[in-house]
Amino acid sequence: MATDIQFNFSGKRVLVTGSNSGIGLETARAFARAGASVALNSFSNEEADHVLAHDLAEETGQTCRYIPADLSKREEANSLVTRCQQELGGLDVLVNNAGIQHISPVDTFSDDAWDRVTEINLSSQFATARAALPAMRQAGWGRIINVASAHGLHASANKSAYIAAKHGVIGLSKTIALEVAETGITCNAVCPGYVFTPIIEGQIPDQMAQTGLEREQVIRDVLLVKQPTKRFIEMEEIAAAILYISTDIAKSITGHAFAVDGGWGAI
Ligand code: NAD
Repeated sequence: MATDIQFNFSGKRVLVTGSNSGIGLETARAFARAGASVALNSFSNEEADHVLAHDLAEETGQTCRYIPADLSKREEANSLVTRCQQELGGLDVLVNNAGIQHISPVDTFSDDAWDRVTEINLSSQFATARAALPAMRQAGWGRIINVASAHGLHASANKSAYIAAKHGVIGLSKTIALEVAETGITCNAVCPGYVFTPIIEGQIPDQMAQTGLEREQVIRDVLLVKQPTKRFIEMEEIAAAILYISTDIAKSITGHAFAVDGGWGAI
């Protein structure tokens, strides 16, 4: 799906965390196509990830780098921003997108799974924003976009850590927005409904096991049951929302939880 909006991010330096697949990769691609220099990130240091950045640079003519960092480790989240500033010459737009899911009722939710989900989905966003803010303040311009979820605004059973983390992302985004309100920096959360990406594909077997339903029933009766449009949102729709709130004209949109959720919030 091609977007019908023309963005221009030439001269901007953008970091998208968790961007070797899904929404993150689509967002990084959209920024590079709009003229930005882009840093891709994931926790692996696979040749294929470096090739992704190389291919994006070839396609767009922009500077594109792959910077590995395991965002389950706070020190790697801190150093990711520094490395990005070194490789791109600065950082104007930070998109905190990396995320994982774990499905289990609270009774059997392990400490390890709780810590991993909350660290990657929430605490790493705090760490990268903290590292990015001083230079943005100095520049008098910056955009921080924290990818939350419809599950940052609404709950579902069996996803306690994810839902707690995503609600936390919205609170973190509002707080940062207030702290930087007079500096030219904005901070917002984006709240997608269900988008068909590996994180969703990975949930289907777990949901089948939890519910005893077949794959198509899980998709229709568990995943899309709360999404009135009854279709998966496309990654390009989320990327376009992220690019829009990163523009200069969006300077008054701050502290907002921007839902792209197929009507979920209307229920
Ligand atoms: P995805 O699995 O394709 O992407 C997740 C990304 O996070 C991958 O690039 C992965 O490498 C990265 N990641 C995972 N663990 C990491 C770690 N320790 N360090 C660094 N990177 C790590 O899934 P997606 O659907 O594209 O998810 C992207 C974001 O969108 C997540 O924050 C997710 O919670 C959010 N989201 C997705 C949906 C959906 O329906 N797909 C809905 C709402 C919110």
